[in-house]
Amino acid sequence: MGEPLIRIDAAWREFAAGDQRVAALRNVSLDIHAGEMVAIVGASGSGKSTLMNLLGCLDRPTRGDYRLAGHSVPGLAPDELARLRREHFGFIFQRYHLLPDLSAQANVEAPALYAGLPAAQRHRRARELLARLGLAARAGHRPGQLSGGQQQRVAIARALMNGGRVLLADEPTGALDRHSGQEVMDILRELHRAGHTVVLVTHDMQVARHAGRIVELADGEVIADRPNLVTAAAAPATPPAEPAPTPIAATPWRAARDRALEALRMALLAMSAHRLRSFLTMLGIIIGVASVASVVAVGEGSRRQVLAQIDQLGTSTIEVWAGRNWGDTDAERQIALRPQDAAALAGEAYLAGASPVLQTTLQVRHGNVTASANLTGVNEQYFAILGLRLAAGASFGADAVARRAQDVVIDPAARKTLFPGGEDPLGQVIMLGGVPARVVGVAAPGAALNRWPGGRNPAIFAPYTTVGDRITGQTRLDSIVMRVREGASAAAAEHAVLHLLALRRGNDEVFVQNADGVRQAAEATSATLTLLISTIALISLLVGGIGVMNIMLVSVSERTREIGVRMAVGARRADILLQFLIEAVLVCLIGGALGIALSFAAGWLLDAFASSLKLVWSAPAIAAAFASSLLVGMVFGYLPARNAARLDPVVALERE
Ligand code: ADP
Ligand code: MG
Repeated sequence: MGEPLIRIDAAWREFAAGDQRVAALRNVSLDIHAGEMVAIVGASGSGKSTLMNLLGCLDRPTRGDYRLAGHSVPGLAPDELARLRREHFGFIFQRYHLLPDLSAQANVEAPALYAGLPAAQRHRRARELLARLGLAARAGHRPGQLSGGQQQRVAIARALMNGGRVLLADEPTGALDRHSGQEVMDILRELHRAGHTVVLVTHDMQVARHAGRIVELADGEVIADRPNLVTAAAAPATPPAEPAPTPIAATPWRAARDRALEALRMALLAMSAHRLRSFLTMLGIIIGVASVASVVAVGEGSRRQVLAQIDQLGTSTIEVWAGRNWGDTDAERQIALRPQDAAALAGEAYLAGASPVLQTTLQVRHGNVTASANLTGVNEQYFAILGLRLAAGASFGADAVARRAQDVVIDPAARKTLFPGGEDPLGQVIMLGGVPARVVGVAAPGAALNRWPGGRNPAIFAPYTTVGDRITGQTRLDSIVMRVREGASAAAAEHAVLHLLALRRGNDEVFVQNADGVRQAAEATSATLTLLISTIALISLLVGGIGVMNIMLVSVSERTREIGVRMAVGARRADILLQFLIEAVLVCLIGGALGIALSFAAGWLLDAFASSLKLVWSAPAIAAAFASSLLVGMVFGYLPARNAARLDPVVALERE
């Protein structure tokens, strides 16, 4: 005989038991040739399973050597061992160890999935094997719907899926009735005759007599190794050719895709098996994502509101003051702005209007009500320039400005103050200091009304001629306000205005304020605020993530045996890692989608029940919320998934 397929040389396997070490195998040496059928017998606890695990590369010897087809095993990494298991071994366990959530067919396919056999071939081969074992009609059944004997036959089919050069059966009949046990033994004998190497653990001499060689263990030592002379089941004189070859692998990326799909399928199965639990886990993510999305949307909504108010003042309005800047009070040096300047500007093509502005504060009176008010002297274009509308009456016209009419427009605050009884103010006469004036219009509420710094005083608007000539006696204007014509560039208009004024006045000491500066300040404030609240919302997302991690740890420990089975049939660490990572990510992504939906619902409700809070979702914000749920899944799923991937297959298989 040539080189043995399996050569175990002076191998020890020790386990730590407390601070002592227990040797389950002591100095075991064993050669097994291809095509042999070997029974390993011995009392319970004699080390049979430990030896089988060693043979099947589920475990490694503590000391000593193991050569499989000439390759040394003890130094191999976990994934290399997984590869040996895929390519050489088929395991048959006493308790079948099928994956309970999968059909018989899918169970049989599992080893080929990890070996990378293309899907079509995988399905066909699994069906053939099931048919060969008399289970054609049971392919779609779950293990729970099959008898013990049928389950063990499914397990045998699975062991043959990747070729099953060496079949390792640990007490394969231990859980079966006599008849089913006999059936399983007949199958194993037949497989042996077909060329498979069979190693069988049993404590039943009736079962052992099927083998051509019997190895007896006691206390971890081989105490007998003899050919079985009782039956004629010795190895065929000339072993038949190698059994079904290891299937051809698909292209690597296809194989990887198939494994990822399997991981996805398992994740979905796991989630649907624990719907309530998955939902509760998701709830943390849902709330977290909903709050992040909503907070960002509220931030965006209020930002837009503020900007809309600023825009109402107008990026298209320009206001110029005499002097170098605010607080330049050197009236001696300053050249005042005059109504003629406003008139000249009004004629410019790039402007839609220009109004002088004269401002003063005075006492106003109507009946027995006296109040302090801001009086603004303007021309008839003023309301159009600022985009102000009237709630009642009409503005004074150009003729009223020309004849210094004592007509005024009041704002809602002035109306409320001066006409507390709610009477119609139109046509009523109020006293501006000592000057009577008739109310001709009431302005509609609007942000542009109150243009005085810090002013919440009632505002009253009168022709600037009236204010200058009849009330204050002042001819110099406080400012000129203009509207840039639609389509003209605000910056260019501003430039032209300054140029024109400099030419007219022979002095460039005027300064401009437009809404851009205000706008920038407002944007910065709202961005800071949104960031701050988002951080708080993110914390709730983190708490959700911790919930996910917690449940994933539970899920891993519940499915430890499944993990062991997958490893036994050749799953790599990465395959296990991916399966659990995908589950965590899936929980988070679904939670994220529901969270965004919840946030939409909240926004809709706020809208429906008239709230000043407006939610505006931007695509990047939604994408960011979604991405953060993905990230949470990956970060918090990683630890549990890694724990799963690092399990020792033997330990995992034994977990109940
Ligand atoms: P058998 O399969 O022959 O019944 P085993 O191979 O399962 O026996 O166990 C052999 C001995 O090794 C037993 O004494 C058992 O307690 C011990 N043993 C097996 N696995 C472990 C382990 N993971 N940790 C500690 N002791 C173990
Ligand atoms: Mg055992």
